[in-house]
Amino acid sequence: MILTRTSEVSSAASILLAEQKDKDAKKSFINYQPTISYTKKHMSKKGTLIQDIGEFGLIDRLTKGLTLQSARTLRGVGDDAAVIRVKDNTCMLVTTDMLLEGVHFDLMYAPLKHLGYKSVVASLSDVCAMNALPEHITASIAISSKFYAEAIDELYDGIKQACSYYHVDLVGGDTTSSTKGLVISISAMGVEQKNHIVYRNSAKPGDLICVTGDLGAAYLGLLLLEREKAIFLENPAIQPDLKNHQYLVQRQLKPEARTDMIKLWRQEGFKPTSMIDVSDGLASDLLHICTQSQVGAVIEEDLVPIKEETKLLALDFKIAPITCALSGGEDYELLFTADPKDLEKIKYLPDISIIGEVLPEEKGVHLQTSGKKQVPIIAQGWNHFNRDKTEQ
Ligand SMILES: [Mg+2]
Repeated sequence: MILTRTSEVSSAASILLAEQKDKDAKKSFINYQPTISYTKKHMSKKGTLIQDIGEFGLIDRLTKGLTLQSARTLRGVGDDAAVIRVKDNTCMLVTTDMLLEGVHFDLMYAPLKHLGYKSVVASLSDVCAMNALPEHITASIAISSKFYAEAIDELYDGIKQACSYYHVDLVGGDTTSSTKGLVISISAMGVEQKNHIVYRNSAKPGDLICVTGDLGAAYLGLLLLEREKAIFLENPAIQPDLKNHQYLVQRQLKPEARTDMIKLWRQEGFKPTSMIDVSDGLASDLLHICTQSQVGAVIEEDLVPIKEETKLLALDFKIAPITCALSGGEDYELLFTADPKDLEKIKYLPDISIIGEVLPEEKGVHLQTSGKKQVPIIAQGWNHFNRDKTEQ
């Protein structure tokens, strides 16, 4: 009898195992006896509340056991974009985002043109977070009967304006009807050399923690619009006066993706060691880098870039400005780590603040307050899954 090599045995065994799993999966479909109320009954069973596990807990649950089938998939779920090898060292970045009326935007104050623009920006920002430039998008929408075609024209005016500003092509999408409100889903793609791509999981102790632009303004813009909406609902004769807060309102309604930074860094020969975009708030996004890189971190309150205008309005709302930066989100700035060897380069690059340092994992993730206290950083990003009582 000829002895088979160990690797062949194990690969034959794994094929058999995969075939068995396939058979089991098929059987579970075949054995299903259709009943009209199956889903309804299933949903009324007691189970894990999604609000208890949160968005990231749900993602972990849904992607558990997912094995990559294609050798071209260099990174699947778990970063700002997936990385797919196209040829040799050339990779495609793919990311997708979905925005729902009443959850992510409110048409009481978000103009459709701005909304179209912002939807594109949110996806482009995820490609930037991989140190790449977006080139293509697809746009899919679901519309309820309350919308006239002219309203959707306006939404697409914003989508097209973003395409033209960022030099990306809208190459497809889908349109369908919704029973309630508007849904917008944008996928963005970019092509980049493998060695240029930056992930969330590669920060090292000793690296500098940096952020572009300023933080917290988008959240205050939202609070401001919500406050004006409440006043308007009480007295429709009063129209909001937002003249003094144009910057904050614009950061909420028409943010920008930092493609300018990616271009500049490339030109200057700078590459971050890890990166993410600030969409959920500095706290949540820093924790993503720390968890995935298995490191700790300390950031200093005094170094976090918050505009004077943001600080003043935060105090008006009786919120500590740092809380807006940590938990607000939607700033679409880039949070990255840099090798200390690159300090000289970073120092002279515009619009970058060094806010802290990466530490060994056992040191934890902390904020050093202006009063020199160390406070643990916990994620307080948005939780879209608070159970709507009317849907139970
Ligand atoms: Mg992101």
